[in-house]
Amino acid sequence: MRKNILIIEDEERIRRYLELELSHEGFNVILAEDGEKGVELFRKNSCSLILLDLMLPKMDGRTVCKKIREESDIPVIVISAKDEISGKVQLLDLGADDYITKPFVIEELLARIRVIFRNKKEFGNKKILNFGKISLDLNLKIVYSNEKKISLTKTEYNLLYYFMINKNIVLSREKILENVWGYDYFGDGKIIDMYVKALRKKIDPTGKYIKTVRGFGYILKKGEENEKFKK
Ligand code: CA
Repeated sequence: MRKNILIIEDEERIRRYLELELSHEGFNVILAEDGEKGVELFRKNSCSLILLDLMLPKMDGRTVCKKIREESDIPVIVISAKDEISGKVQLLDLGADDYITKPFVIEELLARIRVIFRNKKEFGNKKILNFGKISLDLNLKIVYSNEKKISLTKTEYNLLYYFMINKNIVLSREKILENVWGYDYFGDGKIIDMYVKALRKKIDPTGKYIKTVRGFGYILKKGEENEKFKK
């Protein structure tokens, strides 16, 4: 069955482009040109994913996201101009699942959509991410390590979340900065090293999950054993 993707975007050029590309990928595309219409179409249709622009007429994207979140766990990917967002943290607070900045390449967006659908399938609606002995309860924002509740700061939580949705992928410091701290953060990658160190200590004193990839960045990866995702 074709999945419905709702695109809420006022820029016609981008809307058409996404419609074309996503239909080509086999999705059924529903289009809204402003925020109000977006919420209306979200309520009327059974969608699998929403692509949401932030600067929208009638109702801005943040409000749209909040409204949707009050009613549903549907994955939301925010599409925004660089200067419209002040970071992943804020988006996670809103309840968005991911974001991509304009201009973007369609392959990257498609990859993110695939990750979300894959996670959704693996994790169901329980919204618990598991990796090894670490569990993240996305609804309650609680982290367990070895079944013990551990306390993380908001940034540590967001960093861990980012690692978990990108497991087994090497993440550069730039990529982590951009996604966890956001574009408005002016600093170097050293802050990440600091946070990773702290995070490792809290979630996994043996340091076996978040590995340093010299010259590249970090990866959340387990050793030899195959990963299993518990539902
Ligand atoms: Ca816009």
